[in-house]
Amino acid sequence: MKQQQSTPPPLPQSQPPSLSQAGGAAAAEGSVVANAISNLNGTNNNNNSIDATTKTRPPLYPKPKTPSFDKDRDYIGFATLPEQVHRKSVKRGFEFTLMVVGESGLGKSTLINSLFLGDLYKNRQMPNVEERIEKTTRVEKKTMDIEERGVRLRLTVVDTPGFGDAINCEDSWRVCTQYIDEQFRQYFTDESGLNRRNIQDNRVHCCLYFVPPWGHSLRQMDLDLIRRLHRKVNIVLVIGKADCLNKTEVRKLKERILQDLEDNHIQLYQFPECDSDEDDDFKQQDRELKASIPFAVVGSNTILEVAGKKVRGRQYPWGVVNVEDAEHSDFIKLRTFLISTHMQDLKDTTQDVHYENFRAQCISQISQHALRERGKLKRDSISSTNGFDAAISETDRLLLQKDEEIRRMQDMLTQMQEKLKQTHLMEMKKNDSVIDV
Ligand code: GDP
Repeated sequence: MKQQQSTPPPLPQSQPPSLSQAGGAAAAEGSVVANAISNLNGTNNNNNSIDATTKTRPPLYPKPKTPSFDKDRDYIGFATLPEQVHRKSVKRGFEFTLMVVGESGLGKSTLINSLFLGDLYKNRQMPNVEERIEKTTRVEKKTMDIEERGVRLRLTVVDTPGFGDAINCEDSWRVCTQYIDEQFRQYFTDESGLNRRNIQDNRVHCCLYFVPPWGHSLRQMDLDLIRRLHRKVNIVLVIGKADCLNKTEVRKLKERILQDLEDNHIQLYQFPECDSDEDDDFKQQDRELKASIPFAVVGSNTILEVAGKKVRGRQYPWGVVNVEDAEHSDFIKLRTFLISTHMQDLKDTTQDVHYENFRAQCISQISQHALRERGKLKRDSISSTNGFDAAISETDRLLLQKDEEIRRMQDMLTQMQEKLKQTHLMEMKKNDSVIDV
């Protein structure tokens, strides 16, 4: 068969930016993400933002060229299938839900703002000491629509304020597990319903779990929560405020955390194997990402000028921590992993592993329930049949009794008739004798 002659349109750059490039790309991406966040805050008038009234949105991915049937007699055309799928999914848009868990003050909000270049926590209220003693963990959801080169992403950040604040932390993990299960349940219900075309996917695709930098390893409460969540969601561990530690301390803390996870048979999100046909740069980047787990991150909402360049960083008396410098923190690696390289795999793992587990449990519970109900119905019908038998025998007994009574009365009647007959005969004989005389 002849090779395809009409060249399909080039795919948009599918290779992720290299780790060193990613920082530079941030500024360009930033405007888009910042637009989205101001959208969220209701302050964006930019026509490029996504809302119901959007008319001037930049064109989506270019339509693949229709092959010319006249020229390409041997051309079937299925080689354009990937482009068709690509175009369709770009048109539909993407959804991603990120859950952020960790005790307050670990830099979660700052990191989320740094990742998505905005201010998601503008109206945040900090609880005082008394409130924190009794405080229960809540779930707060923030959704924003982001658009980048015509690709639309609906990002939902699920925060858990109050996590670990109360003296009793049991409620903290319960809130998280309940929320995750609730989203699965909703999806399962929607999927089993009549209209399955427009199901909104609110399932949690990734959970960033923040570990404090000041411990020696994972604490009991960390292990408790991770143990309860690791079969429900893709957990990615993050060491917050990593600028508190030097390089050796970061390395040692990472080693101890990984050891703790292994000792407790906890499996965090597993990075997929890199395909052998990927180019060397991609393979190198994949190796670096895997080697950095758990990511030791630094966040900042401040833009500083260092050597004439504007950077997101933290100014200390002894110097500046550049958040986007790979030598200072794993921030860029985390962002590359979460947004550029593994977002789809996180979604696939949620669908194929975690949701499948939940679905299998649901179906087995439903069938067990149905079996129990059927058993109960059977038992009920048997017992009602037995009752019927008992009722019948009681009626029979009464009928027999009545029959017996009737029979006895008939006997008595017959005897009386017999007596009457005899009396009558005797009287007749008496009369005859009188006449004879
Ligand atoms: P959250 O309660 O976990 O959301 O924590 P916040 O993001 O509100 O941060 C709490 C405090 O820590 C704020 O004063 C931040 O400026 C500071 N902070 C945030 N990220 C970092 C970091 O990476 N390093 C350091 N040293 N401080 C941070």
